[in-house]
Amino acid sequence: MDDIPTITPEMVEETKIEIAKRCAGRQGSPLKDIADAACPVCGSHTVSFVDDLVFEVVLAGERIVIPNLTGLRCSNCGDFAFDSGSSKIIDRYTRNKPSGGYECSISTVGAGKLGMYLPKDVLRVMEITKKGKAIVTPLSRRKMLVELCSE
Ligand SMILES: [Zn+2]
Repeated sequence: MDDIPTITPEMVEETKIEIAKRCAGRQGSPLKDIADAACPVCGSHTVSFVDDLVFEVVLAGERIVIPNLTGLRCSNCGDFAFDSGSSKIIDRYTRNKPSGGYECSISTVGAGKLGMYLPKDVLRVMEITKKGKAIVTPLSRRKMLVELCSE
């Protein structure tokens, strides 16, 4: 029993470099080899690479459906995530489309902080008061959810 392989930190590093090289050189998704990974939502090992994800959204009254996107999906709970290539495709199709929301500008309010000016229509519709508090949840690098706290 003298040929049990010992994995050294150097070998781990080499493997990482190899994997990075292979991913960079491949045209497809870097997630392509993922199969039966743990699901962050339901915990079962049923997350695998898929190429039949569908992105669907309605922007400014126009329905946008993008089929055959690649990413990961859990076959147990259905949770899914688009890979970076698919995210770029989605971004390309949705970037210049207004979402039907209200436009507001973002400006500096001092001490490295940024403020977002809520349009009057939003204040009126949502009955936002001067001293209200809100919870902001980033959903992606281009989207956030703002929830008003009820006092
Ligand atoms: Zn799951």
